[in-house]
Formats: sequence, structure tokens, C-alpha cells
Amino acid sequence: MPAAGESGKRLAALRQAQGLELVERQSKVPAARDSKNNKPFQPGSSPIGLRHGKGLPTLLAWFLLVVGMPRPKGLLLDLDGVFYIGNRLLPGARETLEWIRGQNVPCRFLTNTSTKNSQELVAKLGNLGLKVETEEILSAVSATKAYLENQGRPRPRVELLTRESAREEFAEFPPTEKGEADFVVIGDIGAAWSYELMNRVFRLLMNGAQLIAMHRNRFWEDEDGLRMDIGAFVAGLEYVTGQEAVIIGKPSRDFFQLALPQLDCEAADAVMVGDDIQSDIGGAKAQGLQACLVRTGKFRQDLLEDSEVQPDALLDSIADLPGWWEKQGE
Ligand SMILES: [Mg+2]
Repeated sequence: MPAAGESGKRLAALRQAQGLELVERQSKVPAARDSKNNKPFQPGSSPIGLRHGKGLPTLLAWFLLVVGMPRPKGLLLDLDGVFYIGNRLLPGARETLEWIRGQNVPCRFLTNTSTKNSQELVAKLGNLGLKVETEEILSAVSATKAYLENQGRPRPRVELLTRESAREEFAEFPPTEKGEADFVVIGDIGAAWSYELMNRVFRLLMNGAQLIAMHRNRFWEDEDGLRMDIGAFVAGLEYVTGQEAVIIGKPSRDFFQLALPQLDCEAADAVMVGDDIQSDIGGAKAQGLQACLVRTGKFRQDLLEDSEVQPDALLDSIADLPGWWEKQGE
């Protein structure tokens, strides 16, 4: 994506001209750490041109340089792009999962996947040789269902834009009637989008329905390359209705807060591993977690360079997680 790279350079040049430094907006831990040597990237040698701010952030950065990050006590793991792409298992995924099991560290799989329910995800993972229990998966689908159940009114009318399997999760909610709904839920429906569909949703929203997006990811990585995700449709509907969607999955605060109690540790003692700089890394760091970005799946170097969100560690793949983990302080 040369355009993104150029915009990143322009952004960096503009900031330097203004006397500003590239520091993280959301975290007080400014140093991304390289998986190969576990050292923070240094100015000049950094692939992202990261520089530490002055005062307390600088002291903290040097402290972390000397002692490393505290070793995490809980793990949140993204799935798509981290353990697999499409139906292809990523190298080291199985071995790393076995290593995680051996550590007896609480872990949950936090996924924005909206095409499958949890049982189908477990089956898919099983076919790839990854043994995961249904209770370990927190998906945007199950969180959306929980959100609707907590609305304080019995069985709201819901217009569902999801695949058939995800639709089964919402069987308890009555459908739209007479052109009116309480909620419109948007998940991944692949190529089923059309003007007619969007206009029907538009009318429901203008008639008072509330827009809910299982997530608003911009794109994802499939076996044949990047694919546009539902964020574009969510943004389009927000634009034409003037309504802001409720975002259920990553990077929403509530999604992370749903997961953290299940790890039985403080946010600062947990680490999120994902391939999405905004949803995974930005979402986790906004809630005070550590965050490791993997260079697999939808990862693109240009997007990392452009982002004000920076990970605490950059791993070539999930295969590098054990090595990074072992280097963290006790
Ligand atoms: Mg992912």
C-alpha cells in the first residue's frame, strides 16, 4: 500500500516540523519491543520511527528497557490472522497453543468473527488441530446477543444482517414487523450487500431502530488476500442516518471488560495478541492491557507506521509468543 506509506511519511514529517514526537496516545508504555531481541525499537533504527517522549514516559521507557515488561498473568488471543487465515493454519499456531496450555495461564479467545457461532468456531479450530472449548471463546456474536438480552425490554424486534449460523443465536428475538424494528444488527453477510438491502436498513433506522455493529473492522485477510469488512457499510449507514452505531466487538471497552474477569487478573497483567492495530492493539491498550501485534494476517507495515497506536511488542507470528513471554520480568 504505497499510498499509506507516503501518508505515514508525510504525517511524521509534519509532526517533526511541529516539534512533536511520535508517542503513543493511549498507553504510558511507549516502547514496541522486537520479538527477536526483546529490546524496544530505538530512534533511527525503528521501523516505525518511534521516539520516546520527555519526562515520566522517558523514565518509564528506560525502566522497561532494563527490567522488561512484567510477565503477563492472563492472555487474550485473537483468532483470525493469528492462528489461521481462512482454512490455513498459520505456522507455530498449534505448538504455541500447546505451550499456552502447559503454562496454565488463563486465556480467552476474543474474536470479532461474526460468520460463525461459538460451536462452529470450536469445530473449525478442532479441524485445524487446535483444541479449544466453547466457553473459552468470546465472540462478537455472543456479545451481541448478551447486549440485546440486557436491554431491559422483553424480546426487542431485531433486524439481523448475519449469516445463517449466527442467525440461530438470535432465535429468541422476533423479527422486524411493518417496517419497524428496535435494533438493526450488522454482522458479516459477505457479498449479500445491495442498494436495496442498505435502503431497507436505512428506512428502519430512520423509523427509530438503533444500529448495532458486531464490529466495524475495515478489512480482513482471506486466503486470496485482503477483503473489505463490514466497517464500510456501518460507516455508510451512520453517515446517511446521522446515527452512531453501537460497536459490540473489539475495540469496544465493554467487550474487553467482558473478558477480563474471566482471566482472573488485573488488566495491566493481561496481554492481548492480535493482528489488527486498531481493534486488537488499540482496544487492549485503551483498557490498560499489554498488547502484542503479530506480523501475520491483516498486518501491514504501512498501517503500523501510520498508526498512533503502537504495540508493546511486535512478533513475527504467534510462534514467537513463548520466546517473548519467557523474556518478560517475573
Ligand atoms: Mg484478527
